[in-house]
Amino acid sequence: MNKKKNGAGPEPELQALQAALEESEQRFRALTRLSSEFYWETDAEHRLRELPCDARHPGTPALSAYVATLQARLPFRSFEFACPQAGGDLRHYSVSGEPVFDASGNFLGYRGVGREITERKRVEQTLTRLTHYESLTGLPNRALLGDRLNHAIARADRGGTLLAVMILDLDNFKEINDALGQAVGDQVLTEAARRLQSCLRSIDTLARLGDDEFAVLIEGTPDFEEISQVAQRLLGIVAERAEVAGHEIYLSASIGLTLYPVDDQEAEGLLRNAHLAMHHAKREGRNNFQRFSHDMAARSERHAELKIRLRRALEHGEFALHYQPLIALPGSEILGAEALIRWRDKERMVSPAEFIPIAEDSGLIVPIGEWVLREACGQCRVWLDMGHDVHVSVNLSPRQFRQKDIVKTIERILCETRLPPRCLELEITETTIMHSTAHTIGALHELTALGVRISVDDFGTGYSSLSYLHRFPVHKLKIDQSFVRDIAADQADAALVGTMVALAKQLNLTSVAEGVETEEQLSFLLDRGCDACQGYLFSPARPVEEVIPLLGTKASFAAPRWVPAAPLRAPTRS
Ligand code: C2E
Ligand code: MG
Ligand code: MG
Repeated sequence: MNKKKNGAGPEPELQALQAALEESEQRFRALTRLSSEFYWETDAEHRLRELPCDARHPGTPALSAYVATLQARLPFRSFEFACPQAGGDLRHYSVSGEPVFDASGNFLGYRGVGREITERKRVEQTLTRLTHYESLTGLPNRALLGDRLNHAIARADRGGTLLAVMILDLDNFKEINDALGQAVGDQVLTEAARRLQSCLRSIDTLARLGDDEFAVLIEGTPDFEEISQVAQRLLGIVAERAEVAGHEIYLSASIGLTLYPVDDQEAEGLLRNAHLAMHHAKREGRNNFQRFSHDMAARSERHAELKIRLRRALEHGEFALHYQPLIALPGSEILGAEALIRWRDKERMVSPAEFIPIAEDSGLIVPIGEWVLREACGQCRVWLDMGHDVHVSVNLSPRQFRQKDIVKTIERILCETRLPPRCLELEITETTIMHSTAHTIGALHELTALGVRISVDDFGTGYSSLSYLHRFPVHKLKIDQSFVRDIAADQADAALVGTMVALAKQLNLTSVAEGVETEEQLSFLLDRGCDACQGYLFSPARPVEEVIPLLGTKASFAAPRWVPAAPLRAPTRS
């Protein structure tokens, strides 16, 4: 701004006005320098005219991102944009502006203020990462999954395609974590995440929702067939043997899946369905996938109700033990009996296959299992006192087996009931033994040292690797009834059972066939040299007063085949 227009000098009034203007101008510039904001002006062609803060040049091209607003000559607030710098990094700015018109309304350009917001953007991005991705695996978290799901729903609508939502939960992660510690647990999770990701396309989403719970979104799939193949692949890759921090680890997973738009139209509903289906997969024996169906919702309600009633059943003495005799082959003496729990709920007998998984789930299996042990050991003591040299077999559930004080509990019960340890046999399923950890292996050894015997229940249904039989102290293999059922009709099953009996012999273990129902099955087992059997052919599980008269007699297989009056549902195997 010129101080002097001509040699004559300005009028004093004008001088004062100019001085005031100059002072105001300087004050403005000083303030702009101090402030984090900068002032800018453009001309009618949007070329920058004035920018008192050139280090933070927002650049005209960037402003052109708001072309529509600028062309309409409207004011704008807090437009954000990024400018690449010479060094390659980005600087972020936020600007506000308004159009300038002269007295006759001609557009002169824009003017406004702006500020650099690079630091704020950086913090925002970190925050987005922290709030949308989970730190251990780097996978999207629940919040981001919700976002992606809503977008995927919109895309499925536009494309008329199917969208699959899966919830995948690791079956035995908690055991591994408890036994090997959190550091190893974290590595196992990272490895699981890596494996899952490797089965998916880049357009699919894999998210981690909780400890060992993942979600998968599969988009644009034409049919259910393809989706089930993906689910199958995910199960397969998780179950492959892993070595983590020097430990051999076997994982498995249960998957629930649901389809948009067939099963539900809302993101929330889809996730709920997938969870229900996943819990159903758990109940179906884990390591499988289930598609949501509407009766699952009803079943899950019944589940919740059973859980409440189970809690009361123990206090109200609604449980009872039935005993199924175990017969020696070929001699037919009764060697002992397996204690099988029964629950009389509102005059209806509920099968353990139905309520044991619920008791497992809720942790109630621990007090229930302790009651079974005490009751069965006490009963066996009575049999000994009657002069029968028999043992009792008690089923130990995985959760019970993992209890830190399980050995102490068993020792205490043996002591209280005065039962010699050699008369107690613990049945542990093959899958549970397969998932043994340092703690549970230790417990097996301590129990064996006490004199208690260990029996592998449901043998043949677990893993194909039999190396554990050499490593763990077990005494008996109970060949699962699913193999025994078809030995007369199915050559493959016949060969399998024959091999299992031979394997037991080689390892110096006792072989027992479960679920023997027919003469044909019995003669096959006798022929192969199986050591013992259990099944309806001789007797189902019965109340103790009906079992006592059988003790000390020889089993009579010639008796008419026993058919339970109200058969309990046999355990289902997946
Ligand atoms: P499991 O230990 O494999 O028991 C054998 C199951 O087969 C029993 O079913 C028995 O009644 C049934 N069974 C026996 N002989 C035959 C036969 O000839 N044919 C057929 N079809 N079935 C036969 P149950 O009593 O319903 O028990 C089912 C499962 O529930 C048991 O399988 C066991 O895993 C579990 N369970 C039972 N009682 C207890 C318990 O006290 N504690 C725990 N943790 N689990 C238990
Ligand atoms: Mg059993
Ligand atoms: Mg069994």
